[in-house]
Amino acid sequence: MKTDELREKYLDFFVSKGCIRRPSDVLVPHGDKSVLFTPAGMNQFKNQFLGIGPLEFTKATTCQKCLRTGDIGNVGVTAYHHTFFEMLGNFSFGDYFKREAIHWAWEFLTDKKWLGMVPERLSVTVYLDDDEAFGIWEKEIGLPAKRIQRCDEGENFWPANSPSQGPDGVCGPCSEIYYHPPTGGKEVEIWNLVFTQFNRVGSPPNNLQPLPKNNIDTGMGLERCAAVLQGVESNFEIDTLRPLCEAAGNAVGVKYQFQGDQGRPLRRIADHIRAVTMCVHEGVVPSNEKQGYIVRLLLRRALLEGYLLGKQDAFLYGLVPAVVEAMKRPYPDLVQSLGAAADTIKEEEQQFLGIIERGLSRFQKIVDRSKKGDSLVTGEEAFELHTQEGFLIEMTEAMAARHGMQVDLDKFQKLLDQHRETSGRGSFSDSVMAEGPLDAIRKTGGTTEFLGYDSTTGSGKVI
Ligand code: ATP
Ligand code: MG
Ligand code: MG
Ligand code: MG
Repeated sequence: MKTDELREKYLDFFVSKGCIRRPSDVLVPHGDKSVLFTPAGMNQFKNQFLGIGPLEFTKATTCQKCLRTGDIGNVGVTAYHHTFFEMLGNFSFGDYFKREAIHWAWEFLTDKKWLGMVPERLSVTVYLDDDEAFGIWEKEIGLPAKRIQRCDEGENFWPANSPSQGPDGVCGPCSEIYYHPPTGGKEVEIWNLVFTQFNRVGSPPNNLQPLPKNNIDTGMGLERCAAVLQGVESNFEIDTLRPLCEAAGNAVGVKYQFQGDQGRPLRRIADHIRAVTMCVHEGVVPSNEKQGYIVRLLLRRALLEGYLLGKQDAFLYGLVPAVVEAMKRPYPDLVQSLGAAADTIKEEEQQFLGIIERGLSRFQKIVDRSKKGDSLVTGEEAFELHTQEGFLIEMTEAMAARHGMQVDLDKFQKLLDQHRETSGRGSFSDSVMAEGPLDAIRKTGGTTEFLGYDSTTGSGKVI
């Protein structure tokens, strides 16, 4: 089943259950300062969950454009993480609750009329003490108890890692659905059903306030589910993403092979240019501030990957048509912004290419020194790379990790703070830099933190 078909099937299914089909919210949410980018389908419905304002409908379904920079270190490394991805969701605002959410998810996944997945390939998790959800899965759906795992708040309380500790806002216990591939590889989380019952305000104790009504918020990864249905071992192999990896390979002059040495860098390029194109299309252009900083970071990371593979001139802008080709059915207005997006990207590429050699040779000196036993990139070095050479701190962190080195991030942050004070509202002020780029990036991940280049988190095997 093609990805475009899956998206429509999901939405049709939930419309058949009485949900109103709503469009995706924009990637940069209006009036929500708690996130830089929309990390999940529920974000556009926060007020409905809180019971604020008029309720035009009590059930909804969407395909939401999401961006999680918190997953940046996983991209290309795990089989199932992107920065930009699409989340299929169904939502209840005081309407249906656990029973329907579970039954409908199961029906959609396993009924031959819909996805027809083999039930034996699926398992679920529930929150530790959620006997109700456990009972529905076991007694009503008929899942054997050994395929229902009780997990603690690390996995099964959304968002964050504990019921009492996490961002303010609506939250609740959840139940997740996993697919076990026939090849015997590691299972992949495909769908999270959140039983949104609380508003978390401030610190514990007593910071979980029951919401006026019980709600449902579910999120299924479109690309992950497509990978399952297409019988491929990674999201990057699905019909919309494999061509992009191949186009990235052609652009830098190496052949894309899933298992090949260049697999990871090419997947990163494919992921990042897709994310950047979607952002630029929405008017977020590279800059040193907030969302623009993330776009700049993604572009420079992708460019550096290409550069290290031997491509020494601008090439990312040439991939924009391939992104548009893959994404234009759900987002047809991408076609109109193609030319302008490519121009913006090319300009940023040329700017960074003008300084990349200097940054790389400066970094090389640090690596050479590390061979003599000193494996720390000092805060001063990282700061100078960041402010003088355009090697954004996350890139230095990633490059350092490749060489088994660490960066003194505390010192870096101190220097950046000082710089801000002395330069007043300088180029980095009132920006991502104002709160510290690392913090800002970690925040945008919503539920995961940036763990560095080659560490992985969450679902799926390392490829
Ligand atoms: P994981 O544990 O694999 O990192 P998650 O628990 O962080 O996933 P949720 O916050 O529960 O993910 O999001 C709901 C669904 O969105 C997931 O079940 C998954 O299918 C999908 N998803 C989450 N993060 C990503 C990502 N970075 N790229 C692609 N799909 C994702
Ligand atoms: Mg999850
Ligand atoms: Mg998870
Ligand atoms: Mg995650």
